Amino acid sequence: MSDTATPTPLAAPKIGFVSLGCPKALTDSELILTQLSAEGYATSKTFQGADLVIVNTCGFIDDAVKESLDTIGEALAENGRVIVTGCLGAKAGEDGGNLVRQVHPKVLAVTGPHATQEVMDAVHLHVPKPHDPFIDLVPPAGIKLTPRHYAYLKISEGCNHRCTFCIIPSMRGDLVSRPIGDVLTEAQRLFEGGVKELLVVSQDTSAYGVDVKYRTGFWNGAPVKTRMLDLVAKLGEIAKPFGAWVRLHYVYPYPHVDEILPLMAEGLVLPYLDVPFQHAHPDVLRRMKRPASGERNLERIQAWRAACPELVVRSTFIAGFPGETEAEFQMLLDFVQEAQIDRAGCFAYSPVEGATANDLPGALPDEVREERRARFMAAAEAVSTARLTRRVGATLQVLVDRAPAMGRKGGVGRSYADAPEIDGTVLIQPPSKASKTMKVGEFARVRVVGTSGHDLIGELV
Ligand code: SF4
Repeated sequence: MSDTATPTPLAAPKIGFVSLGCPKALTDSELILTQLSAEGYATSKTFQGADLVIVNTCGFIDDAVKESLDTIGEALAENGRVIVTGCLGAKAGEDGGNLVRQVHPKVLAVTGPHATQEVMDAVHLHVPKPHDPFIDLVPPAGIKLTPRHYAYLKISEGCNHRCTFCIIPSMRGDLVSRPIGDVLTEAQRLFEGGVKELLVVSQDTSAYGVDVKYRTGFWNGAPVKTRMLDLVAKLGEIAKPFGAWVRLHYVYPYPHVDEILPLMAEGLVLPYLDVPFQHAHPDVLRRMKRPASGERNLERIQAWRAACPELVVRSTFIAGFPGETEAEFQMLLDFVQEAQIDRAGCFAYSPVEGATANDLPGALPDEVREERRARFMAAAEAVSTARLTRRVGATLQVLVDRAPAMGRKGGVGRSYADAPEIDGTVLIQPPSKASKTMKVGEFARVRVVGTSGHDLIGELV
């Protein structure tokens, strides 16, 4: 070898990464992975092949806690050098100390959620930064864990509500809205990076800006208020030249949400609202201490549909909350029918350690909770199926998620009515002509020819 030969660069240290939990945790993972990559760390697909493993945990329900603790145990057994971050990292154990440290005293560091810098500090301590970071190798949109064509945009952290069944505020703290300029810049970057569908997430999207008193921020040199309406309008404007979708999650039925519906009717953002109602009876909502529990939800949904007939409403509910009477539950069944909820999920109430609802009187036996959940789902599915069936014959714009052989073998996509991972899909049949193709991450026009469970069946037009 001559003296002038290029020296072989030292192999980049490898970090293993496991991301558990909700879309908000996923965006934390993306921030950490982006930072790791920017600093020149590589990722490892196996625990054994890594110099260190980061586990981003979830601490919401008992099953998630167990899954997180098991994953940490596995990473410790197979690798031994583990940093823990995420919601479970902020949770106290029985003696008031840190739960993760109590169960797994050998972990190198533990942080709570949205702690990119703390995680990076711990990484630097245990696996020093590579000397020459290849910053240019990071794609403009950062590192994303979702497919390239859709992305979650987190607009705030924490929550000002205190729902009695939930411990998120004790883990994530009160609402902190991200500066509107930062949020819009991130959206622009994601669209420029090829994202065709932006999913806005937070604990309460309708509360955006409350903590900063709707402060005026700046984007592209122009003033813009830190407020849901302004945010949604701007996101719609930014998405337009890219032909991309903007979808809103975790919206509560406050009166000011009415202002968003005209934007949906004019096509600026998708006519889709994910509103976690949880129940319909005012007394149960009060016991749950739900946001907007005093609102007349049925009337509100009817007014929304009048303003935007295309609107799709998805929601989640809890059956068998402490003290729920048969009459209260019946009102929930009536609500899902009268409100014509397009997509509904339902949990049988399950006590979460540390939640104040555990102290409420009237806990129901497991069988009653489960039986009510099943009755609810039967009622909700009947509504959902009827609403899906009405789409047969319509032509829809569909975002293609899967298309083997350029779609010649058919594919799977979603219309505006389907959020990824939680709703149904559009099953696209193999085209009759070989010249008709489709590509993942692109839009296709699909005529609906039938339904199958929660999905539509369609053919390319
Ligand atoms: S709105 Fe209620 S359920 Fe949602 S995070 Fe806040 S306290 Fe929890």
